[in-house]
Amino acid sequence: MSSALKILLIYTGGTIGMVKNYESGSLTAFNFDSLLKNIPELNQLDCKIDHISFENPIDSSNMNIEHWVELVSIFEDNYSKYNGFVVLHGSDTMSYTASALSFMLENLGKPVILTGSQLPIGDLRTDAKENLITATQLAALQENNEPVLQEVGLYFEYKLYRGNRTTKINAEHFEAFNSPNYPELVNSGVHLAINSQQLFKRKNKKEKLLVHKQMDRNVAILKLFPGISKDLIAAVLNTRNLKALVLETYGAGNASTEDWFIKMLKNAIENGLHIINVTQCSAGSVVLGHYETSSLLKKIGIINGKDITTESAVTKAMYLLGSEVSSMSFKTIYETSLRGEMS
Ligand code: ASP
Repeated sequence: MSSALKILLIYTGGTIGMVKNYESGSLTAFNFDSLLKNIPELNQLDCKIDHISFENPIDSSNMNIEHWVELVSIFEDNYSKYNGFVVLHGSDTMSYTASALSFMLENLGKPVILTGSQLPIGDLRTDAKENLITATQLAALQENNEPVLQEVGLYFEYKLYRGNRTTKINAEHFEAFNSPNYPELVNSGVHLAINSQQLFKRKNKKEKLLVHKQMDRNVAILKLFPGISKDLIAAVLNTRNLKALVLETYGAGNASTEDWFIKMLKNAIENGLHIINVTQCSAGSVVLGHYETSSLLKKIGIINGKDITTESAVTKAMYLLGSEVSSMSFKTIYETSLRGEMS
């Protein structure tokens, strides 16, 4: 690595940025000015690390569209100045942010690596140091003067995943994330094992970064369960201004074939609502028409979410609605993989 490499570290909040005050025993926000002092190992990476922090760092449960816009604006302003970006983020909604950023950053040619930790950086048994050090190292990886990674990734507990394929699966273990439908991009062991075949390849390298800042919040997620009431479904479908609904169905995209249920969905679709079928299974794919219980959904024009995660499904809907994709082409574009988010 050449020391001319520059990485921008962006702190949004979350457990990773806390230190333990051993006198009081409480956790307090980390002062990023003393980052290198607290993690001297970062000095061994042959790159210059600058950092900025959200003015008011947040627990990621407070993450919202405005924060995503703030983040992409930071990338936009600093894109040409840095070789890679590391985003420190609370783990709770990290998969949503990683998915949203992947859509908001079109033609991304540099790494944006999200990471965080289960234990604060100042804790004795912290997982923060390894996560931060390796995420930074990954953001600085170059080959033939080009960044090796040119997508939004999520690094946690020795694995780099494609961000929009991840989901948080554990609130206790250090291995907090999973990418059930897509292999890891990098495994960190004694060496960094890069799964080159799986890296996202931009279609046209000459295209410049396009930053999208319009995300439409008129979306919803509805998880089906046996016994779900008409009233609940009606309440969701009649939500004012609702434009897209991510419907978490069973197994390979199956749902009740009861008349009232299908009719309600059919009417909503005819009235312009985009309904996206995703599976509530943690792995596998919707296969519309595989069972009779999904044939009717196919017939009424439900959108096939294939093997997309719910996190990606909802942020993709926000992005496409914000991009004002025409109603006619929404389904076709939605069913196309834009950033490697579906197979
Ligand atoms: N509640 C925290 C957050 O998501 C947990 C974490 O940082 O991992 O901000």
